[in-house]
Amino acid sequence: MNILLVNPETPNTFWSFSNAIKFISKKASDIPLGLITVAAMLPPEWEKRLIDMNVSKLYDRDLLWADYVFLGGMNVQRQSFNRVVTRCNQLGVKVVAGGPMATTDYEEMLGVDHFVLNEAENTLPPFLHDLKNGDAKRVYKSSEFPQLSETPIPKWDLLKMSKYAGMGVQYSRGCPFDCEFCSITMFNGRIPRTKSTPRFLAELDSLYDHGWRGAVFVVDDNFIGKKSVLKKELLPALIRWSKDRDYPFHFTTEVSINLADDEELLNLMVQAGFNHAFVGIETPAEEGLAECGKKQNQKRDLVASVKTLQRHGLVVSGGFIVGFDSDTPSIFARQIEFIQKSGIATAMVGLLSAPTHTKLYRRLQAENRLLDVASGNNMDGSLNFVPKMNYQTLVKGYKQILETIYSPKEYYERVKTFLQEYNMQHRARLTLTDVLAFLRSLWKIGLLDRGKWYYWKLLGYTLVKCPEKFAVAVTMSIYGFHFRRVVKMV
Ligand code: SF4
Repeated sequence: MNILLVNPETPNTFWSFSNAIKFISKKASDIPLGLITVAAMLPPEWEKRLIDMNVSKLYDRDLLWADYVFLGGMNVQRQSFNRVVTRCNQLGVKVVAGGPMATTDYEEMLGVDHFVLNEAENTLPPFLHDLKNGDAKRVYKSSEFPQLSETPIPKWDLLKMSKYAGMGVQYSRGCPFDCEFCSITMFNGRIPRTKSTPRFLAELDSLYDHGWRGAVFVVDDNFIGKKSVLKKELLPALIRWSKDRDYPFHFTTEVSINLADDEELLNLMVQAGFNHAFVGIETPAEEGLAECGKKQNQKRDLVASVKTLQRHGLVVSGGFIVGFDSDTPSIFARQIEFIQKSGIATAMVGLLSAPTHTKLYRRLQAENRLLDVASGNNMDGSLNFVPKMNYQTLVKGYKQILETIYSPKEYYERVKTFLQEYNMQHRARLTLTDVLAFLRSLWKIGLLDRGKWYYWKLLGYTLVKCPEKFAVAVTMSIYGFHFRRVVKMV
């Protein structure tokens, strides 16, 4: 059996970092972790190949080689996903689809032979069993959340590792919180499930043995969902693992803001090699936080919490939302003020969106306000429901936030605010790629870019005040270059 796993193309979005990764000669920022994990669950005697369309072209000869094309993807990849299905149909190649988008939208999808939905640990074995017996059904789904003890180590050898800016691993699934707009709890539940510490370290060992060094994204929904296990087991072991190998990986993950309340956990994470965390801030307005059920963000000084994370050694990126029913036009200025004060350079501001079957989706459906499926691109300015605020006011105010916070003046000011607070704990080893990225930035940002003077000012400030953070300042400048291009497209 020949299996071709295909990851559809991701358009140029905020999170694709496509304008930034060119500086380090990479093709994609993230790996298709789900597909290479599924590949490891397939019978070992089957032939497997992977085409990640973000790093390689998908040719008809690749499709014709396959007995089955296994296709994954998220909403943001929908167009490319549909084009691959059409090509397979034209060539007479069978398609098996899974992943988040297929799980929520399979009833509307045409041209797919088999859907293997939800978590593959539950649905792939019965599909493979039926396939072997020649009576595979069209849809395999499950409402159970499997333990992760059976999840295999991803098949790293399918990846062209050198094409990616970072690798990905997973420690846990699920999040104890229940924000109204979020699809995580629907997919993965509210009781976090983790891999055992030896199992997680084995995954890191295998990545290390495959020669990877550098950025590793721990793709958990909320890494701190099980704090006591992290503090007692995983992080002490990970600290030893990282020290023994002289910190080969620097970790990024997603956490809820209550990490700022737990100094022990925060210190352990940084000691283990975490240097970056994404936090869902959403809004500085208490009414908006109450509306979406974001309890962990309520009744706290959010700027102070962000700064606590930065002071302990984490670069914080944040998600922000406008378009809550309780938002008034004053929210635009409040968001700008908050973002500038927080020093969050990577501030992903999106219009509220209602992914299929979330609590928000069901509420808006009951209120007869739904318009379309969510695009999955957090920053394309699209709305899939009728907002309470006047539509033109909302979109205009939204664009104004983006244009302000990503204008060179405000952006570089924010980076400076961040550098003043950031207590860097790990200095990354400089590689030739980093040096080349710096030289490219001199040319592309320092000479050709709008706002080049702010770039030189930032470099000058960093050299004088905190030269040890120079590489961070250059990286932030390159991110800003990317964000300005994405914002132009909104
Ligand atoms: S904390 Fe984050 S992952 Fe958890 S439910 Fe809220 S938005 Fe989703």
